[in-house]
Amino acid sequence: MQFLSGRYGTDSLFYAIFAVCVCLAVINIFLQSIILQLVIYAVMVYGFYRAFSRNISARAAENRKFNEFINRFKNQSDIRKQRKADSFHIYKKCRRCGAVLRLPRRVGKHKTVCPKCGNEFSVHVRK
Ligand SMILES: [Zn+2]
Repeated sequence: MQFLSGRYGTDSLFYAIFAVCVCLAVINIFLQSIILQLVIYAVMVYGFYRAFSRNISARAAENRKFNEFINRFKNQSDIRKQRKADSFHIYKKCRRCGAVLRLPRRVGKHKTVCPKCGNEFSVHVRK
């Protein structure tokens, strides 16, 4: 117990590393690769190194970065779902500035102007 005091412990990055190890180990049941086995050990050692680290602020910063990275994917998929569910609008990206324009879904060819940069382009809406 005294060994664990002052150590960083487990966090969401630790569990993600653990999950990756389990997945790789299952894959390696079929592959029987020594190289993959070494990779699994290396990843495990890294996971435990983090858990037993005394540099708590550095480990917390790593975990924060990891969570930000994961949340970015979550947010993108949420936005994609919202746009798919919106049957009254289409979403087009301006080629000049990259802004996403929400346009009414009217079938046919239309011209639109990007409100951000003034770029005029045509939009073709199929059924
Ligand atoms: Zn634009």
